[in-house]
Amino acid sequence: MRDTTIRRITTHVLSAPLKAEFAYSQAWYGNRTAMLVEIETDSGHIGWGEAFGPPGISASVVSHLSPLLIGRDAMATDLHWQTMYNALRDHGQRGGAIEGLSAIDIALWDLRGKYLDTSVAVLLGGPMRSRVQAYATGLYRQRKSDDAMLCDEARQYAGQGFSAVKLKIGFGLAADITTTGCIRDAIGADIGLMVDANHAYDVADALAYARACADMGLGWFEEPVIPEDMAGYAEVRRASTIPIAGGEAAFTRFGFRDLFLARAIDIAQPDAMAVGGITECKRVFDMATAFGIRCNPHVWGTGIGLAASLQLLAVVPHAPPSLNPREPLLEFDCTEHPIRQAILQRPLEPARGWIDIPSGPGLGIEIDRDALTRFATRT
Ligand code: CA
Repeated sequence: MRDTTIRRITTHVLSAPLKAEFAYSQAWYGNRTAMLVEIETDSGHIGWGEAFGPPGISASVVSHLSPLLIGRDAMATDLHWQTMYNALRDHGQRGGAIEGLSAIDIALWDLRGKYLDTSVAVLLGGPMRSRVQAYATGLYRQRKSDDAMLCDEARQYAGQGFSAVKLKIGFGLAADITTTGCIRDAIGADIGLMVDANHAYDVADALAYARACADMGLGWFEEPVIPEDMAGYAEVRRASTIPIAGGEAAFTRFGFRDLFLARAIDIAQPDAMAVGGITECKRVFDMATAFGIRCNPHVWGTGIGLAASLQLLAVVPHAPPSLNPREPLLEFDCTEHPIRQAILQRPLEPARGWIDIPSGPGLGIEIDRDALTRFATRT
């Protein structure tokens, strides 16, 4: 007889220094961190989850929520989601609060799959696809970087088989326009190119950028303005011929409802590790179809987040369906991350730009505990 009672919830806060710092439009990275959640049941089954964002905030949220779950049935994910969100609602409907909730929810889905000996993708109604094409997220800035170095990097991704790459912008309008043109020339017209400002622009600069780069065949323009400025997003979207993407800084179905109602984005980018876990990410996918909005999840984390995102990518609906529908892409972070693959017993790497969606129970991964010890931070 299986015993699905939750016995213990543990957080693992990991950190690893980088060989070379890199920057996006908001900050420099000198190290990579992770906040992982391990949930154990009375039968000894273990589920894994991960939170996006600063580990200290989400880890404390997990500690706060854990007493609500200990002794409860791990299978009741909808009930636990509601209980956790209701406990947070008056104090944190976004950010670290929901990131902590997300990590727990992902771990519960991993457990559910392990109990039923079925992948999360199948439990979600899939799979709609068994593999997915990845795009390369890279092209950050280093202490001494120039356009020639970025072009070399972009060509490397194309050489590895990625069919699309994403460039970080938001380092000054004129420089961004020049760099975008250089990258387009370097990779040619056949490789997809997306850009991500990480909300470094205001509406005027976002529109100036969109106009200047209108003929560069950009796949999407991500986070043009700050996520709080929904009307600004909508203004940019109405005037831009480049599709507008956003959502990594939106939380829960309520946050995406507001983005959708404002007609702020063409492409929704919920992150399982931030939006409210697998439960809420699937709800956002389904809601997006009612608004005619594409979903292409945001992914930035270790192998656990990657695995959760792959299970969800297996069930991203075609919006709209047709004989030849547009397929979602996996965001594959190509920057240095010593923890990313080290915690997996078998790495999740694309080959010639494609990655198989694991079909094993739960998230379809096994964790290397030695790596957890190696990267553990002292608390
Ligand atoms: Ca982004």
